[in-house]
Amino acid sequence: MALTPVFLGDRSAFSCNSDLSKRSRIFVGVRTITHPTLSESSQVHARNTLNTAMLPESTPILIVGAGPTGLACAISLVTNGVRPQDITIVDAQAQGLNWSRALVIHAKTLEELDTVDCADMLADRGTHSSHVSIRSKSTVLLKANFESLASRTRFPFALLVSQADTEHYLEERLKHLGVIVRRPHRLVNIEGADEGVRATFEGGEVVKVRYLVGADGSRSTVRRLAGIPFKDPVTGKDPHSEETRGEVSTERPVNVAVADVHLSGDIPVSTDGNLFFGRLGMLLFVQLPPPLNGTDLRSVYRLAFPVQPGTKDVTKKVLMEYLRVGLGRPEAELPTIDSIIFSSTFRIRFAVADRFSQSIGGGEIALVGDAAHIHAPIGGQGMNLGIRDAIQLGRVLTNILVVDASDDKPSTKKAYSAHALERYSDDRRPLALEVIRMTKLLTWIAALEGGVAQLVRNTLLWVLGSMPWVRNMMALRLSGL
Ligand SMILES: Cc1cc2nc3c(=O)[nH]c(=O)nc-3n(C[C@H](O)[C@H](O)[C@H](O)COP(=O)(O)OP(=O)(O)OC[C@H]3O[C@@H](n4cnc5c(N)ncnc54)[C@H](O)[C@@H]3O)c2cc1C
Repeated sequence: MALTPVFLGDRSAFSCNSDLSKRSRIFVGVRTITHPTLSESSQVHARNTLNTAMLPESTPILIVGAGPTGLACAISLVTNGVRPQDITIVDAQAQGLNWSRALVIHAKTLEELDTVDCADMLADRGTHSSHVSIRSKSTVLLKANFESLASRTRFPFALLVSQADTEHYLEERLKHLGVIVRRPHRLVNIEGADEGVRATFEGGEVVKVRYLVGADGSRSTVRRLAGIPFKDPVTGKDPHSEETRGEVSTERPVNVAVADVHLSGDIPVSTDGNLFFGRLGMLLFVQLPPPLNGTDLRSVYRLAFPVQPGTKDVTKKVLMEYLRVGLGRPEAELPTIDSIIFSSTFRIRFAVADRFSQSIGGGEIALVGDAAHIHAPIGGQGMNLGIRDAIQLGRVLTNILVVDASDDKPSTKKAYSAHALERYSDDRRPLALEVIRMTKLLTWIAALEGGVAQLVRNTLLWVLGSMPWVRNMMALRLSGL
């Protein structure tokens, strides 16, 4: 079937939940239309704030979650031809998160972002890292060579950029396309109805939805309410269950501390991403651009390393110890940690949803990003895979809306949408399983304990690292191309 990506849906559906609507109209009068001192951009901002207060009574597409994947899905929908007013995107948080989690965007993700005109703005912001190196103290064991991807992509590098910046740019782009994230609205229930899905929010609002996208993270409410199991493909355990929290897992749990810091003094490495394999396990050491709109123009350094379960505090003392062992330098030659901008600890979990789509009543649900799969951050795959899910789902839903607007019989339309989303699920789930396999292996290699095992590992990596095809293959695997 030839599809034109233009949706001609029913506009009458877009009245607002009335109380909120009244409150917002007053707000329009005061802040956006009559205030004489607002600049044009702040008027736009005020309008955006206004729109965030309202939920429609119905919407063809509801995206729950405005993390990187929810935003990318909405952008993909609009750039593929869906009208902005046919998309509702909500988030439980009053504003986007300003702390960083993912820090790398790989070439395949940039290629996908390029299809929705988002790659260049991000590429301009981040650091182009031509290599990711695995080191033992000052010795380079193995370097993934991203320059070797030049014949396959116009993005032959790993783009180092904080997730906070990525989300900021995506949300700005979405705003520019005419879609505002409505905050704070927490989805609390969904139920099937003849005409679709009824989504209920914490504030009591009910929104009738035809297609509901669960972009609501690893503890996805959408996935739970749809009854879609979420399990580690090897152990079969739910990563968030009580049993797993009690650490009855057959696999050893790995807890990781992560910190963004300012450094001064003799800072050892360049713009490469670096993993130091040492006696205390792995130390990730990556330089990121200074925060957006910040007054401090110094680079930020991301440090991450495994810690004992139960570790809460990531102090300067702990960070210095990992720097000392990881870099293999005497105390006097270490850089100084001037400040800890952000720190956290988290448990590495692996899981994939049994399916990434499901029919509910007359509607359909689809999952993207962490709602569909979670894995170790090593290799920087999580957000990358999620953004690629989201852009593909945007294309699939665009085609579905075109068919919905056609003269076909309702049963044909329903069959088409269910089938297209099943295909989306069948396409994406194996990729998630592959990333889980890869990150489990990398985590195991990085977490090897004991002097002999570490020596054997490091020697093997050093031998492999002397072969250019290994360096190129590693870059290819990480890039997702
Ligand atoms: C400390 C840390 C470090 C990490 N490091 C890396 C890394 O180096 N590389 C990498 O690739 N990945 C990393 N990750 C993972 C990466 O951050 C995730 O893969 C990515 O954020 C997934 O994006 P998402 O949009 O699917 O979900 P999220 O970013 O989790 O966004 C989900 C959104 O949904 C909203 N939401 C949740 N429930 C509801 C509800 N009921 N109603 C409305 N809204 C709701 C939330 O407020 C949130 O904004 C890290 C994660 C953490 C925690």
